[in-house]
Amino acid sequence: MTSSLNLSGRVAVVTGASRGIGYFLAKELAAAGAHVVAVARTIGGLEELDDEIKAEKAISGKGEATLVPLDLADGAGVDRLGGAIHERWGKLDILVANAGVLGVISPLGHVEAKVFEKVMAVNVTATWRLIRSVDPLLRLSDAGRAIVLSSGAAHSAKAFWGPYAASKAAVEAMVRSWADETKNLPLRINAVNPGATRTAMRAQAVPGEDPQILPHPSEIARKIAPLASPALTETGLIFDAPSERFLRYRLPE
Ligand code: NAP
Repeated sequence: MTSSLNLSGRVAVVTGASRGIGYFLAKELAAAGAHVVAVARTIGGLEELDDEIKAEKAISGKGEATLVPLDLADGAGVDRLGGAIHERWGKLDILVANAGVLGVISPLGHVEAKVFEKVMAVNVTATWRLIRSVDPLLRLSDAGRAIVLSSGAAHSAKAFWGPYAASKAAVEAMVRSWADETKNLPLRINAVNPGATRTAMRAQAVPGEDPQILPHPSEIARKIAPLASPALTETGLIFDAPSERFLRYRLPE
């Protein structure tokens, strides 16, 4: 699918690009020709990504990365990121808000306050702050695209998944509001449920599971990357990666 995706000349921010789904999404977008602004705290993971993108460019001539080591809980840092992108490119074409934390799998009554607050700070507040920082830049693109990682947990809200499920439900509500605010613009904004994927977060959530039964994050990234296409028409929906379908929300009665 990605082979037909052409993102030449387009600038993409990918958060959580140091490992897991974000790492492979950054690689996919770069392989399609984008300049990827790769954000995470772990410099080693970002450097490995940069090496892979450079190696791919040596073969295909496509893709580039700028590394931004940043803790997304640093709100002022997130604000500065938008300013720096504006100064360098004067626009942003693609936002992949992928960084997230699980917190803990535990009965709600046993969750420590600092763990709950961290889940909300990274998954919800930092996502909002990032949206606020780059919304004006996406409006300056001829086809701004936002891909915001959610989870099936937002809807299944299973026992012991409370903090994470609540954070992802909040993320999806923001996506819907933001998509509604921008529906008459060229911007297209969607949430994504990647489904269970072979990453560090999944291993933390379900430690007894054999990771080999799960799809590799590169496989999931290949399904999600086309949401960055200027040709995309959908907005305000959830893209369900396992079924490769857009799910519609129930309209209010
Ligand atoms: P992962 O392997 O744990 O990677 C998480 C990424 O987020 C890392 O790159 C991490 O980078 C970054 N991150 C976390 N806290 C950060 C912070 N404070 N500042 C900056 N970056 C931060 O997770 P994943 O499984 O790939 O998950 C990616 C997204 O998919 C998440 O939003 C997750 O909720 C969602 N999701 C995953 C699954 C699954 O089965 N894997 C299922 C449903 C939804 P650093 O640690 O280097 O900062």
